[in-house]
Amino acid sequence: MRAIRVQQFGGPEAMALVDVPTPEPGAGQALVRLHTAGVNFIDVYFRTGLYKAEQPTALGNEGAGIVEAVGAGVTEVRVGDRVAYAMARGSYAEYAVVPAAQLVPLPDAISFDQAAAAMLQGMTAHYLVRSTYPLKAGDTCLVHAAAGGAGLLIVQMAKAIGARVIGTVSTEAKAQLARDNGADAIIRYTEQDFEPEVKRLTDGRGVDVVYDSVGKTTFDKGLNCIRPRGMMVLFGQSSGAVPPFDPNALNGKGSLYLTRPSLAHHVLSREELTWRAGDVLGGVASGSLRLRIDRKYPLADVAAAHRDLEARKTTGKLIVGI
Ligand code: NDP
Repeated sequence: MRAIRVQQFGGPEAMALVDVPTPEPGAGQALVRLHTAGVNFIDVYFRTGLYKAEQPTALGNEGAGIVEAVGAGVTEVRVGDRVAYAMARGSYAEYAVVPAAQLVPLPDAISFDQAAAAMLQGMTAHYLVRSTYPLKAGDTCLVHAAAGGAGLLIVQMAKAIGARVIGTVSTEAKAQLARDNGADAIIRYTEQDFEPEVKRLTDGRGVDVVYDSVGKTTFDKGLNCIRPRGMMVLFGQSSGAVPPFDPNALNGKGSLYLTRPSLAHHVLSREELTWRAGDVLGGVASGSLRLRIDRKYPLADVAAAHRDLEARKTTGKLIVGI
């Protein structure tokens, strides 16, 4: 089968399209013939070696396709099922072996492209607004990179709950997109200092929660935007890692809560996975959750997807047609 492999960690050029043997499913696993893979920032981290993995490294953490074969003891899916998944590496390929417990059967109304666009960032937005800091109607949240893949979905889900959303973005086009998805106020954080602007927009009170996927360039100021006993949810690092941090700062800034969550810890049981995936895919099917698929790349050109993502050129989701 054709698959992307990284021989040596590095830039987008480190990804090579190679021929490798089609894998076989072991006990509890299924072989999925992939139609579409989702592109996520986590793929960049495995490509560069920031996140540790075997070498040569298989890339892609999200996919949608058809179950081709199952290993012993698999009860969750059957051969021929249309399925999707997140957080199992190797979806930049024609086939992937995936733990069957991670596969979600797809409703007929959902295409492979939609599923590969929705699973990882959709379930992330879901756990952030439902579980990490469960938003209530009337809460105010600050969402950084609000026109990004995770960002647009957080904005929509927060608005559906009845929260007020302040978003940050780098360009006017991204600002318009975030507004179109429901953001109440947008700050161009590359032009304007977002800290005083958030204080102005909240009459000096601060927001209840910050959802921060940007990291290095936003974390410190974000802490100054939170009301006493509010929460900083640092869930990514698009601009780089946050340097070591003194927990005493949380006291000085108002007995704040700080967490650094991951999707993997929010789909721990089959029940939790199907709840989150069901809400996300159900929302897409009904039209209450809108996906923005920015671009679809051929597998041979996935390096271009990484370049565009890292260069802040994209909005919403990037997918790969297999
Ligand atoms: P995005 O679509 O949000 O793309 C990244 C965006 O971040 C850019 O478009 C840009 O928006 C903004 N950004 C700000 N500074 C930089 C910079 N220096 N370089 C690049 N981008 C920058 O990506 P994803 O939604 O895929 O992921 C966002 C982050 O969230 C990643 O760190 C990812 O790993 C993390 N994540 C974490 C999860 C978890 O469970 N913990 C799950 C999913 C994602 P703008 O131009 O508007 O500034």
